[in-house]
Amino acid sequence: MSDFPYFVTIGEALEICKKTALQTTVERVDLDNCHNRILAVDLPSLVDDPPFDNSAMDGFAMRYEDTVDAPSELEIIGTIQAAGQEDNLVVGKGQAVRIMTGAPLPKGADSILQIELTSVSGGVVTLSQPSMKHFIRKKGENLTKGQVALSAGTYLTPSRVGLCATMGHSSIPVVKKLKVAIISTGDELKQPGTELNRGEIYESNSFGLSGLVKWLGHEPVRLHSVGDTIDDLRVVLNEASSKYDLILTSGGVSMGDWDLVRKIMEEEGDVHFWRVKLRPGSPPLFGLWNNTPIFGLPGNPVSSHVVFRMLVAPWIRHNTQSNGPIEDRAYATLATKVKSTGDCLTLRRVTIVNENGKLSAHQKIHQGSGNLASMAMSEGMVVLQPGQEYSIGDTVEVMFL
Ligand code: AMP
Ligand code: MG
Repeated sequence: MSDFPYFVTIGEALEICKKTALQTTVERVDLDNCHNRILAVDLPSLVDDPPFDNSAMDGFAMRYEDTVDAPSELEIIGTIQAAGQEDNLVVGKGQAVRIMTGAPLPKGADSILQIELTSVSGGVVTLSQPSMKHFIRKKGENLTKGQVALSAGTYLTPSRVGLCATMGHSSIPVVKKLKVAIISTGDELKQPGTELNRGEIYESNSFGLSGLVKWLGHEPVRLHSVGDTIDDLRVVLNEASSKYDLILTSGGVSMGDWDLVRKIMEEEGDVHFWRVKLRPGSPPLFGLWNNTPIFGLPGNPVSSHVVFRMLVAPWIRHNTQSNGPIEDRAYATLATKVKSTGDCLTLRRVTIVNENGKLSAHQKIHQGSGNLASMAMSEGMVVLQPGQEYSIGDTVEVMFL
């Protein structure tokens, strides 16, 4: 065997990967296309938020001191529904102005009472209780002009994209999507939608991996799956390395004679490690093909998914300095025993149900790494450190699928 690290822990594998940098660039993108993207700069607000004092309620604006002896009656001197209408209004002693949510506060008023607590008769409003000062949203109380509300590396969730607009930005600099080539290998693989002959299975890894790449905010490109020949592999790897930022292969990285991804990488590529102490998912390799980073992921569908989540995703996030998408984790009570495999970090698929406000995790019987149905029908995976074993009733960390 060549002299690259072999059978390393996930932590060691990640450190090795981090020595290889993915080149990222920045592009300016309209807000419509910013969801799930990664902000590339510290983004200051172009305005105060809110830009002016305004009402938090549909109701009336008045002087608080006129309402302390509620019920109180005030003269209605006007209505403010939009900016500009407050210009000529000054709320004096014993007066009130009808006001809509978000409308600017008139001069003289220092409080609001919502419409539900008032009754109107002719030009007079009766308040059933004193008015509220905290129903005024103060200029700049959320953000002040120039304040950096979102920092470089922020993963743009819906509320964050909305905040970019609140701050006055119509387009923002984001990390350009990495183009990730996905190549499945194996003579037995057929595209879904075609007939299976004896010995063939439907190719599924490229679809799952493609979703995981999109989840991280990048662009998957599913290339044709290739048969188990060194020559075909060489052609597709050369093509992928000339066009894409990263290559993910699946299959052909185990110990067998037909594990040709491993073989071609050992003979013609540059392997940085092979095999990790992870179950499922021990066979992967990482290295360079023509200077393009390449992960040789396992062929078993559960394994390729797990290796992406545990290794590929953290490494990509590290390269883009991104704070998301976050890996959802929680604690659950075990309803069945779970056990790790040997010296491997072990992930056991579990269904998670809410029982009287507590999460309860049940391990399915069949944990085979080829059993994608068991993963698709599970809500999470219990994370077990090497050698760890848990009993019924123990509290365990689960990673959501
Ligand atoms: P391999 O590592 O190539 O020996 O593959 C391990 C197992 O995963 C075999 O049962 C393969 O048939 C299966 N497999 C490999 N690639 C895929 C794929 N793209 N989609 C679904 N199953 C696959
Ligand atoms: Mg294979």
